[in-house]
Amino acid sequence: MIIRSIDAIIRMLDADYIENGNIEEKIKGVCIDSRKVVEGNLYIPIHGINNNGHLFVQQAIDNGAKAVLWERKEENPPEDVVVILVDDTTKALQELAKAYRKQLHMKVVGVTGSNGKTSTKDILASVLKEHYITQKTLGNYNNEIGVPLTLLSLNEDVEVAVVEMGMENLGELSFLTHLVEPDIAIISNVGTAHLENLGTMENIAKAKVEIVEGLNENGSLIYNGDQELLKNAVREKEIPGSISIRTFGMDKRNDYIVSAVRQKKEGIYFSVTPSEQSSYFLDMIGKHQAMNATAAMIAAKALHVSDEEIQRGFTNIEKTGLRNELVVCDRCLILNDSYKSNPQSAIAALETMEEFEVPYKIAVLGDMLELGETSDQIHYDLGKETARFHLQEILTIGDMARYIAQGAFNHNTDDVKVVYFENKEELSEYLFPYMHKDCMLLVKGSRGMKLDELVNVLIEKN
Ligand code: ATP
Ligand code: MG
Repeated sequence: MIIRSIDAIIRMLDADYIENGNIEEKIKGVCIDSRKVVEGNLYIPIHGINNNGHLFVQQAIDNGAKAVLWERKEENPPEDVVVILVDDTTKALQELAKAYRKQLHMKVVGVTGSNGKTSTKDILASVLKEHYITQKTLGNYNNEIGVPLTLLSLNEDVEVAVVEMGMENLGELSFLTHLVEPDIAIISNVGTAHLENLGTMENIAKAKVEIVEGLNENGSLIYNGDQELLKNAVREKEIPGSISIRTFGMDKRNDYIVSAVRQKKEGIYFSVTPSEQSSYFLDMIGKHQAMNATAAMIAAKALHVSDEEIQRGFTNIEKTGLRNELVVCDRCLILNDSYKSNPQSAIAALETMEEFEVPYKIAVLGDMLELGETSDQIHYDLGKETARFHLQEILTIGDMARYIAQGAFNHNTDDVKVVYFENKEELSEYLFPYMHKDCMLLVKGSRGMKLDELVNVLIEKN
């Protein structure tokens, strides 16, 4: 984390200040949540949607804040710590992160994409740990506040940092990548996430490729070459010749080709050509994770991590929760993928379930949010797609999920049971008996649907 004298912070921000304390003192780390401030922090009060952080400054000071940023327009600045005056605390947080990043000498890998950022980040960090002092984005801190906080959390002795970068609109990634200045940029894929804001898939692809704008001039871009949209967006972007570009995917034209992906209970097995090892094992659930692992592998190789180290990292992954967890509930196997959903990740989850040799399979599919005007149709199409999987039941929940049910009902054979549920209580009542049967349950829906609550109820009541 950032450790600097208050004076140095003032200079990094080129700011005025009220000298209520000793500016030679050091701050250790920054914090935007007054409740989580610890001794020595710089407290940065942010104007959130519901709260104004300036109102909680006393709590931050009580918890040990050594100095605070303060918007000029705010009244009653505190009198017992150094107050650094700025126009906008969010902008100052970003500026401070940018200035700190410039002082760091580590390699930085930036990871973006519609699906799989967190997974790729977790896989890559685990692999890099085999060779380097590594630090990664904690949880899912990937936006205009999360990315600066991640940068400011980096320790100076770190050799490689892995930073997740998200976006919801054009221009956002361009902004973030100029803060991060990655040496390696990974685009895991493009999908329909945030279609509502971006309008077209072309725009989504274009928005992801913005990551190269902050890329080191001798850096590398690694992206999913199976997606024409992404390929076109890369082609259209003016990328300096000094940047090396590598693609991965199932298609034979990629630089790194992923094949023979098999899901087993313990994890997945897959091959990558070219590579020294004929097959890899990855301690994760979800066939699509082979793609994320390959992107991570290319980045690791660019940083001179050996094949043996890569395989060791793959077997020992520090995961971020709720994504593709396999839970054994009495006799039923629950694939809990309730963290996020969109058509691509829902299909990926169904493909994963397909790999398990279980006699009875039930897919619980909830709403996929933020899909924009054609959301009805996209839900219907997912329902239609379910017909190519070997499912015994398709249970849907949520307003939009009615359309999944319709699509599923119209395209599956009569022996597949399709049921629409109004609420989670009814759904969990319905599911309890299955916990004692040999079956598998996939639970998938957008975060806002909170389907993890359903999984918790099933586990608790069991
Ligand atoms: P967020 O935008 O919330 O940060 P993310 O991009 O970090 O999401 P993950 O958290 O890694 O993505 O995964 C989210 C969901 O997408 C999970 O359901 C996961 O199984 C699925 N997923 C991950 N990688 C892929 C992929 N390469 N293709 C399709 N689905 C994927
Ligand atoms: Mg994420």
